[in-house]
Amino acid sequence: MEAGPPFLPYGRQSIDEADIAAVATALRGDFLTTGPTVEAFEAAFAERVGSADAVACSNGTAALHLTLLALGIGPGDVCVVPSITFLATANCAAYVGARVVFADVDPDSGLMTPETLADALARCPGGRAAAVLPVHLRGDVCDLPALQALAAAAGAVLVEDAPHALGSRMNFGSGGEQVGDSRHGVMACFSFHPVKTIATGEGGMVTTNDSDLARRLRVLRSHGMTRPPGADPWVYEMARPGFNYRLPDINCALGLSQLGRLDHFIARRQHLARLYDARLARLSPLLTPADRPVWSQPALHLYSVLIDFEAAGIDRAALMQGLASRGVGSQVHYIPVHSQPYWQEANGALDLPGARSWYDRCLSLPLFPAMEDSDVDRVAAALEEILHR
Ligand SMILES: *Cc1c(COP(=O)(O)O)cnc(C)c1O
Repeated sequence: MEAGPPFLPYGRQSIDEADIAAVATALRGDFLTTGPTVEAFEAAFAERVGSADAVACSNGTAALHLTLLALGIGPGDVCVVPSITFLATANCAAYVGARVVFADVDPDSGLMTPETLADALARCPGGRAAAVLPVHLRGDVCDLPALQALAAAAGAVLVEDAPHALGSRMNFGSGGEQVGDSRHGVMACFSFHPVKTIATGEGGMVTTNDSDLARRLRVLRSHGMTRPPGADPWVYEMARPGFNYRLPDINCALGLSQLGRLDHFIARRQHLARLYDARLARLSPLLTPADRPVWSQPALHLYSVLIDFEAAGIDRAALMQGLASRGVGSQVHYIPVHSQPYWQEANGALDLPGARSWYDRCLSLPLFPAMEDSDVDRVAAALEEILHR
């Protein structure tokens, strides 16, 4: 059999020899877990996103869990979560016993908007919430100033779920704003799962400008242990059970090395997205790229399109199968979380028309730094063939 071009997954990591050498150095060092590379990675990450501090942890889900724990959110509190996100955003609220109120999203961008947040807050008991967790889907940035104002008026803090948006910038007028700089939210969470913008295997980070929150995050990340000042050297204290959510030195070495390549990764993702925009234009209006808010300069974790499957006369499963048989991976981001059996059971039935419309039409096409420009052609040609256009 003749070997075809390699299968294009919708996303994958980019590991080079320098990354491998960095991990090997960590392995030869004295600390495999809590070593000097943890702090080095945290410091470089904070510097890169423009936050005062960054706290590394075992994955993006742990990052979200730690933020709610550090805020003291628990039973009786409400977290507002957009329905179009990964399961983990809502799961972390469940971990602390908080109630989740799902917000709808804009049908064409998939993002929580001031309108959908206002609607969700109106469904919260007494119009009050403890936390609002916007998700920068694909890397496109939510309307943070407006969401922050609405959250504050409802007594809630803003925690950004930002695994898609490492390196995303926005322009709300003050200039130079970056996702994770915590000008609008109190904390932002990142993930370094291999499909995300930088990879550490498993890994996560919380950024914040609040030193008290950073201290609490670090205590909760390591069993709730503190060392009382002036105490004997073996003494530790625990005021409240924490978790083992540490990120090993080995993974931090990879993260630090990957962070050095972030600008290249972003430039490549943005370049490929521009090629897609141009190459797919002739499939409009059957297939259109997701709406990009005017203030958003996304680093682009995903390249998502919206497809009118009814007009195309093909369903999504058949289209994805057609792509796969042509060596092209694709994925759906995401199934509306409020429709999961657990949440229907917990919250009762809920119709969120924006989430439904987004879900009915969305598809993520391959996007990762090692893709060739010609791969975009391959994907577009496959789509044209399947859609008979
Ligand atoms: C990846 C992701 C997470 C979870 O991160 P993990 O590192 O896989 O635990 C949470 N929220 C969103 C939006 C994500 O994309």
